[in-house]
Amino acid sequence: MLHPREQKWGMIQVFTGNGKGKTTTALGTVIRAVAKQKRVAIIYFDKGGENHYSEREFIRARISEIDLFPTGLDRIDPITNAFRFGVTAEDQKEGERGLCIVRDLFEKNKHQLIVLDEINSSTHLGIIKEAVVLDVLDQRPPHIELILTGRDAPQSFKDRADLVTEMMLVKHYFYRGIAAREGLDY
Ligand code: ATP
Ligand code: MG
Repeated sequence: MLHPREQKWGMIQVFTGNGKGKTTTALGTVIRAVAKQKRVAIIYFDKGGENHYSEREFIRARISEIDLFPTGLDRIDPITNAFRFGVTAEDQKEGERGLCIVRDLFEKNKHQLIVLDEINSSTHLGIIKEAVVLDVLDQRPPHIELILTGRDAPQSFKDRADLVTEMMLVKHYFYRGIAAREGLDY
């Protein structure tokens, strides 16, 4: 058996379920990878708009080992703050753009860890096609570790994965009427 430090990268991790902690778990793993001199890319699916994600500006300004690729339209209305539900052709176009970025990063093979944030939920919602995602996953260079986050991970993603964690909702202050808190939830 290999020493833990020699065990190879290149597995697929899936964080899904309806409890909080999927994206933040991915970000925690990213910090560990950077601490060990790895290069990381995060592709955000269906998460456009720059005002709702505190970590992005910080990462761009301070952590040069991480490359960020947000895709998707902004779902939050800048004036009313209302969330837009549903899937449009524009959402799907943005999803396809996200997958193109992933293919491109695989080809360049510069990163050791790639996070596909909200790829599970985006697939479930029909923003991107399950078969196309599977095809992209199959094209990855063998040593790139992948983290797939988002609710409702398709069974086929879980089947491909080496690690699957289902965040289970036990309690969330949201259901007491407390909205997302800056610096903690976004
Ligand atoms: P986080 O980014 O905090 O790790 P997440 O990735 O697990 O959350 P998402 O489905 O991406 O969860 O939800 C994004 C936002 O919704 C976050 O602000 C998160 O705190 C909040 N949230 C997560 N789970 C729930 C839940 N079960 N009910 C209500 N809000 C939730
Ligand atoms: Mg998330």
